[in-house]
Amino acid sequence: MKIFRYFNGLKKELLIHHAKGDSIGFVPTMGALHEGHLSLIHQSKALTDFTVCSIFVNPEQFNSREDFLKYPSTIERDIELLRGQECDYLFIPDEDEIYPDKKSKSKHFDLGYLETILEGAFRPGHFQGVSLVIERLLSQIDPDYILMGQKDFQQCMVVKKVIELIHSKTKVISCPIIRESSGLAMSSRNMRLSDEEKIKASKLFSSLEFIKNNRNLRSFSDLKDEAINTLQKEGFNVEYLAMAKTKNLELTDTFQQNETYVLLIAAFLNKIRLIDNLVIAG
Ligand code: AMP
Repeated sequence: MKIFRYFNGLKKELLIHHAKGDSIGFVPTMGALHEGHLSLIHQSKALTDFTVCSIFVNPEQFNSREDFLKYPSTIERDIELLRGQECDYLFIPDEDEIYPDKKSKSKHFDLGYLETILEGAFRPGHFQGVSLVIERLLSQIDPDYILMGQKDFQQCMVVKKVIELIHSKTKVISCPIIRESSGLAMSSRNMRLSDEEKIKASKLFSSLEFIKNNRNLRSFSDLKDEAINTLQKEGFNVEYLAMAKTKNLELTDTFQQNETYVLLIAAFLNKIRLIDNLVIAG
């Protein structure tokens, strides 16, 4: 695996691949890698000729400096894990390489409705930060595919929107959520949970399954109220628990046949913010 810190070196390598007609898969991450990230590398390797992974903890997408500073970093271990997956290229830029000047941080992306709901509403500016880094990475790396986790369901849609706005040819591949045996969705933030908190955190997924399993027996709002009550008793502070159509993330309280929905949740367990989701057919 070749490691680059600057776009120039990486782009020289990729030009050779582009000239030969090789396909490139790209997996952007913020590091502190786990099985969820590695599944994206695995899927990229199966789909494309060469895989680029990036590790960059993007300060622009954090809502507080404290959260950014506390974000876990395990770079040596990450490199070993990526070598183990036979990832071809790793890009580890510093902040100046991504944001060379003030102007590069001040672009605005018209994300429309997507930015007004759920993560967009609870984390103001978050998706602008995501858009900034994705636009910079895609415009430089120009991959055929970008592989993203459905764990960040709304983020996948935001990235598709950015691709549309910048007229990029890159296709988004949304990959399944990898979970612990307890059901807890793997996340770099889980590293900040104690063993006891991890067991508790798996109740987020249980609450989504509870709604899924009872959706034909009771109304969504009734199930939602019960799920939130149960989580609150466990010590969670629930920011939202919502249902939306998968095709456009339109929020709804009713199931219809022939429509696919996603249940989405965000909650704090102590100071750690966790998100999860579950796709269900009406
Ligand atoms: P992050 O490092 O958290 O920015 O995540 C980098 C990529 O990995 C994003 O596309 C995430 O959606 C994806 N990802 C994170 N956790 C998981 C998981 N448990 N299963 C699948 N993909 C994941």
